[in-house]
Amino acid sequence: MGTLAELEAEASSCTRCALAAGRTTVVFGVGDPDADLMLVGEGPGRDEDLQGEPFVGRSGQLLDRLLAEELGMPRSRCYIANVVKCRPPANRDPLPQEIAACRPYLEGQLAHIRPRVVLTLGNFSSRLLLQRAEGITRLRGRTYPFRGGVLIPTFHPAAALRGGGQVLAGMRADFVRAKLTLAGASGAKVGAEAAG
Ligand code: SF4
Repeated sequence: MGTLAELEAEASSCTRCALAAGRTTVVFGVGDPDADLMLVGEGPGRDEDLQGEPFVGRSGQLLDRLLAEELGMPRSRCYIANVVKCRPPANRDPLPQEIAACRPYLEGQLAHIRPRVVLTLGNFSSRLLLQRAEGITRLRGRTYPFRGGVLIPTFHPAAALRGGGQVLAGMRADFVRAKLTLAGASGAKVGAEAAG
């Protein structure tokens, strides 16, 4: 296995799937390669495609706010990536064959960073990494053992921007769950729902 930088360099000219044709930039991932917390979203949007960094638009601003308010953590202390590294046209959902083609990059990121906690944001990353078919509303609200650490599924920030207070309260509870897990809290505490 090469280094994370070598993997990023390989991805920067990747043409393994059809998303290569429409992208401006490959949005590989950003953050601390030794992070305890890794966040995994769906795919780049317009702002991310132009800037080459995940979660820089309105969703990213909400993500930064939740990290600061619930975990007391700037984004620079986490590692943030997506399931697919290139923008799907018109922000459509990534297709199964695109997710499969891009998966080795995500697997490489997980293998290099080895985070203690993975927060999956939304349906695509949660279903992919948990290998479950249920939607995020059913999956969230608890922790899952994941490769020697813990996986915590939560909503995508875009859903909170669309869905209002209840979705946001759920996200806050999940971020608190991540904080308690990182702090080494007991299973009982980790499983407790925090007030929104
Ligand atoms: S989405 Fe992933 S697999 Fe497809 S071209 Fe981009 S980097 Fe390659």
